[in-house]
Amino acid sequence: MKTISILGSTGSIGTQTLDVVRQHPDLFSVKAIVAYKNVELLEAQINEFKPEMAGLVDEEAYKELKKRYTGPTKLVGGQEALITAATWPTAELVVTAVVGAAGIEPTIEAIKAKKTIGLANKETLVAGGPLITSLCKEYGVQLLPIDSEHSAIFQCLEGQKRDNVDSLLITASGGPLRTWDSDKIPMATAADCLRHPTWNMGNKITIDSATLFNKGLEVIEAHWLFGFDFDHIKVTVHPQSIVHSMIMMKDGAILAQLGNPDMREPIQYALTYPERKPLHMDVLTFDKVLQLEFFPPRYEDFPALQLAFEVGRAGGFKPAVFNAANEEAVYAFLAGKLRFGDIYKTVVSVLEQMESEPEFTLPNLRQMDLWARETAHKYIEK
Ligand code: NDP
Repeated sequence: MKTISILGSTGSIGTQTLDVVRQHPDLFSVKAIVAYKNVELLEAQINEFKPEMAGLVDEEAYKELKKRYTGPTKLVGGQEALITAATWPTAELVVTAVVGAAGIEPTIEAIKAKKTIGLANKETLVAGGPLITSLCKEYGVQLLPIDSEHSAIFQCLEGQKRDNVDSLLITASGGPLRTWDSDKIPMATAADCLRHPTWNMGNKITIDSATLFNKGLEVIEAHWLFGFDFDHIKVTVHPQSIVHSMIMMKDGAILAQLGNPDMREPIQYALTYPERKPLHMDVLTFDKVLQLEFFPPRYEDFPALQLAFEVGRAGGFKPAVFNAANEEAVYAFLAGKLRFGDIYKTVVSVLEQMESEPEFTLPNLRQMDLWARETAHKYIEK
């Protein structure tokens, strides 16, 4: 029986993780869950999965939960809830499925507590890559990717000698604006962007898919997960999202992992790794015509992707600033305070204002993250 803690249990990845657990009550037991403020769903999850601990970060929501729930599960509120769930003693694997850099500190604490990490929260690795990877080495902790592209690469790399692999090929659906005319893209509305053609995900990642910031974050995530430099990570647009990603071998052979777009497959693989178990989902069959297309990315129309390569190569705090400024710009866009085209401009403006970089430590990371958010707000409110 594998014991699990889920950070962000009420979200898209969190609920799909619980669906995997629901399919295998003999394999998995949920010990801790935490969300931001969704009282109703968290309470329903407590009643169904009976974790030892559950928490809500938002204090008002936590008070409401305490009024409603009087059972045996220990309740924790505020920021402390995330850390408590991340380090819960009886959980061996922590699924990090909160959104954004809020995942950094709990992930660090989970690593220090020697938990295996099922990593969905890519922003944590983008912002804190040097710190997270060195802590994983120090504590002997494995990061198991949940992002479908990285799970695909992870699966393709299994059993391969590192020296035999030339590069990683990350696929991108291209997002909801993939075929839009260049002049219309900057005017896209939130409603346009939230209609993702192949994946059903949380709002932040869906906007990131429209700008291609998501693919940029994934390029940097792949760098830290697999140790490839940025000249050996490529992106190809594949609208059907069937080929989840590929690796190219030194002799030109390409290995790919395929499946219908269903996040439960990579989630389950992170939970069962290195075993494989049946999963009830609509599996890919080849009994009807299946067309797979690949296109080069439209770098000029979706400049965030190129920018991600640049900040990834530059390293230091640039990826953290890139990530934090993007998070603020996305929420401003969703709140109707920023036009679509200004998300990228906000991030560029914040990066341009960066001055000398301090040493890469957690306190400095916190400070740079905060600075980037405040600087982004000044740009947004101009
Ligand atoms: P959602 O917005 O659907 O869910 C986010 C979850 O995190 C919710 O449970 C939310 O609680 C909780 N949460 C949000 N902010 C905080 C916070 N500050 N503190 C504590 N809990 C918080 O996001 P997704 O599931 O789509 O994405 C989660 C992560 O996984 C992201 O990093 C994303 O990039 C990554 N990912 C997602 C994929 C997908 O298919 N959705 C695919 C690959 C990666 P509440 O509901 O109470 O607000």
